[in-house]
Amino acid sequence: MGDAYRLHGMIAVITIDNPPVNGLSQEVRKSIVDGLEVALSDDAVRAIVITGAGDFFSAGADIREFTTPKAGAPPHLHSVICAIEESPKPVIAAINSTCLGAGLELALACHYRVSSPTARVGQPEVKLGLCPGAGATQRLPRLLGLEKALNMIVTGNPVNSKTLSRTRLFDSIIEGDLLQGAMEFAERVVAEKQGLPRVRDIKIDYPNHEAYLQFARNRIKASAPNLPAPQRCVDALEAAITKPFEEGLQYEFDLFLQLMGSLQSRALVHAFFAERNSAKVPDIAPDTRVRDIRKAAVIGAGTMGTGISMAFANSNIPVTILDLDQEALDRGIARISTIYEESIRNGKLGRDECRRRMSLISTTLDYNAIADSDIAVEAVFEDIRVKQGVFERLDAVMKPGAVLATNTSTLDINRIAGFTKRPTDVAGAHFFSPAQVMRLLEVVRGDATSPEVIATLFKLAERLRKTAVVSRVCDGFIGNRMMEQYARQAEFLLEEGCTPEQVDRAIEEFGFAMGPFRVADLVGNDVVLHIRRRWGDREAPYRYSETAELLCAMGRLGQKTGRGWYDYRSGSRHPFPSEAVEQMVRRHREEKGIMPRTIDREEIVNRLVYALVNEGSRILEEGIALRASDIDVVFLMGYGFPSWRGGPMFYADTVGLHTVLFRMRRFASNPHADPGFWRPAPLITALASEGNRLSEWGLRQ
Ligand code: NAD
Repeated sequence: MGDAYRLHGMIAVITIDNPPVNGLSQEVRKSIVDGLEVALSDDAVRAIVITGAGDFFSAGADIREFTTPKAGAPPHLHSVICAIEESPKPVIAAINSTCLGAGLELALACHYRVSSPTARVGQPEVKLGLCPGAGATQRLPRLLGLEKALNMIVTGNPVNSKTLSRTRLFDSIIEGDLLQGAMEFAERVVAEKQGLPRVRDIKIDYPNHEAYLQFARNRIKASAPNLPAPQRCVDALEAAITKPFEEGLQYEFDLFLQLMGSLQSRALVHAFFAERNSAKVPDIAPDTRVRDIRKAAVIGAGTMGTGISMAFANSNIPVTILDLDQEALDRGIARISTIYEESIRNGKLGRDECRRRMSLISTTLDYNAIADSDIAVEAVFEDIRVKQGVFERLDAVMKPGAVLATNTSTLDINRIAGFTKRPTDVAGAHFFSPAQVMRLLEVVRGDATSPEVIATLFKLAERLRKTAVVSRVCDGFIGNRMMEQYARQAEFLLEEGCTPEQVDRAIEEFGFAMGPFRVADLVGNDVVLHIRRRWGDREAPYRYSETAELLCAMGRLGQKTGRGWYDYRSGSRHPFPSEAVEQMVRRHREEKGIMPRTIDREEIVNRLVYALVNEGSRILEEGIALRASDIDVVFLMGYGFPSWRGGPMFYADTVGLHTVLFRMRRFASNPHADPGFWRPAPLITALASEGNRLSEWGLRQ
């Protein structure tokens, strides 16, 4: 049985040891049951302690088993829990550190629980579209009370053990050596004949629980109207009060199985694995050398430069910002300080911590002052000439081995690398706005970029608590290139009869955080147009609706001018439909001889999302993205695609590729369509005819 079972006097210690997170794999489940059996058959053993090795007690089910037969192989988690709860010798969970999901459910079945003060406990199942399935909804409210248990289960967020020290969840919080303390606790239990208390025997006392649960259901409906899992968690918690324990357990498990088969859960599980997979770049070995990033420089103190600098400071990396003049630097620092002040006001940041972070940010006008930085991230105007000037200077001053990154949204990284004599050190680091908040980082790999630089940027993303996705060079990389087609299609919808608010509402009801016209008003319609004009210079230029040009000609640049696709009232970001825009679109239709028609919500959503799917498939064919799931990560994390739909590529699979193709052909027959727009990417046609899934493309390569 190895180190999983050890005897210390009259106490048997079973250690869950399955790196990296002590997932409850089939081997681990078996080792616990075997350990219990040995302990129970040994008369010298009077009590059993279960603990975890390393930094985890257990993070729950072993996700590596999810799609393998081992997940269902005996002993099942329920049998392990049953064996613990029914043990005739007391079992004590010693929660050394993170204890989540099934790991916590296992601990809840123990007769006693002791914890280190820094442990974290939680039931994150809801984040995968599930409810707990091994008793948490029945046992936690008995220990924490209904409200605390509901909050923990419905949010899925972990809680520090210390904040729960006054609840019945923990019999003792042990400072110092936890295992030693747990064994002493066990000896006391034996000496004082404290018995075998079972959580199931505790009565939940919550008068008028119906009213509280209704309140919780309403609150959840308002904040997560499309997700069934949080509501099912409440149903299961209600059963803890209204049903006998065994029935409640069965009810919870039935709900768990139901949710497990739901589309939402499959989408969330896909998103979870997609995020984990994005860090794997096939031709970059996991042991590729990673350069040390101790000091950073950011060129440009504008919107992105300041956000990126805050991202560095928030992760404890000193950063120097360089700009053309002192005013630009002062404005940048003022912006940073305003954002931090707001966090202090919202209670998210302490004043001391704010001061510490501000002290990590310095400014300069002099390139020599950043020469010894380990990385420079350029975030100046989106103009290749300006970028050229910056990269020539960086090449001249930066120390050998420094990573030279550009935050360009659309420009050619290979060209930018060519402005230096060290193209292997140049890559794109495309942050999303606001850069200190958004979790996505597109790492753009130029033809010459060295594997070491890519590995370094992935490691950096991890330190900045971001998820990196690698993209090859093309106009707009993965995200913006796909969004260009989505925005084009949104304006075609206007020409054919929609209003901006109809389009926005349809896609927001689908689950997007913000519709395309609200996004354009936020980014600035002039910025959108500026980028688009370059796209218009391509060999085979796209046809665009002229409405955006007309809008800018009216001076309606977006929120910054108080008017864009919508009207805005001073000091508010709330959009109001605009009569002037409606007139402009009407006139435009008349000039083009377009008879407006009523376009239903379904057509709006399908045209916008399939525009993403088709371009995404081309991106895969061209090798710009490594795998379809990377594209999903980009859209889930960078563009507000609803997580419970799994991303555009996963969504296409749920619709069915044949249906997607069929509808694209129908859209192409629309007399106002750009005939090239709906030409299906050959990849979709091929996968549909082979019966394969788009979202799995590239996963096994
Ligand atoms: P911005 O206009 O807010 O800021 C640009 C800053 O660069 C200004 O402070 C300007 O003074 C400074 N600058 C200009 N030329 C310079 C030079 N030669 N040397 C030093 N500083 C110089 O621009 P932004 O929105 O922060 O965008 C910066 C870059 O980030 C662009 O490439 C843009 O495409 C990209 N980007 C922007 C967003 C966004 O949402 N704004 C998102 C992702 C990427």
